[in-house]
Amino acid sequence: MRRALTEADLAALAGDVPVGAVVLGPDGTPLATGHNEREATGDPTAHAEVLALRRAATTLGRWRLTGCTLVVTLEPCTMCAGALVQSRVDRVVYGARDEKAGAAGSLWDLVRDRRLNHRPEVIQGVLEDECASLLTSFFRTP
Ligand SMILES: [Zn+2]
Repeated sequence: MRRALTEADLAALAGDVPVGAVVLGPDGTPLATGHNEREATGDPTAHAEVLALRRAATTLGRWRLTGCTLVVTLEPCTMCAGALVQSRVDRVVYGARDEKAGAAGSLWDLVRDRRLNHRPEVIQGVLEDECASLLTSFFRTP
């Protein structure tokens, strides 16, 4: 999560909402990182999770990220939750809850929806206060 927080800082430096993500391989080594790049790239889908998943798939040479864990500072949105299910990651670890748009336990629980064919394990609240305060201070800055 510390690594994801460092990524989130990079997003903020570019004027993007500070969200960072890391994909860990089956043995726990970091495969790829990502941070929100919507403002930097003008791409509405450039969320930290999507970018990290794409890079991890490139690193592994396959789209199926079985055995991998995605760590992200903020609870994934519906798009990212969908991407996590599609990528077949084993585990999703997140810091701050997103009561307004979260899709991993807050507003929705897409990743654990029994109607879907893949349901990653979810671990929430890791370094929650740090992850949340990064966002709060970003939105407070004029
Ligand atoms: Zn997202």
